[in-house]
Amino acid sequence: MSDSIIVQCPNCGTKNRVPVEKMSLGPKCGRCKAPLPVPSSQGPVILTDANFDATISSAPTALVDCWAPWCGPCRMIGPVIEELAKEFAGRALIGKLNVDENPMVAQRYQIRSIPTLLFFKNGQLSDTIVGAVPPDQIRAKLLSLL
Ligand SMILES: [Zn+2]
Repeated sequence: MSDSIIVQCPNCGTKNRVPVEKMSLGPKCGRCKAPLPVPSSQGPVILTDANFDATISSAPTALVDCWAPWCGPCRMIGPVIEELAKEFAGRALIGKLNVDENPMVAQRYQIRSIPTLLFFKNGQLSDTIVGAVPPDQIRAKLLSLL
């Protein structure tokens, strides 16, 4: 039997039970269908063109790793993002966006080089880091936005 967690909807206050395996799939509130800001202890939230706006706007602080499977430096930064997702669970939303599969978001933020890390505060783009930088630099930026 799988584990589940209780997530309170930021929109209507309903407490939703979310199975762990659904946490990265952009779960929605059972009552009002608002996206739930799941704590990312299971790893980064998978973001898409479809769920990006609703998910980012639901989190006070968010970090999005824009990547692609063929990108070498992205594979270096991937485990760092996984670690940060666990470290910042419940404090910041950590997400991953495959730029090949989600061209709308990639184009909107003019992502020309990957990995690109997008930092959001209250749904607004606050900062951008391009390239595989040391984990401490990413962590420090996140902490400054909490
Ligand atoms: Zn709701």
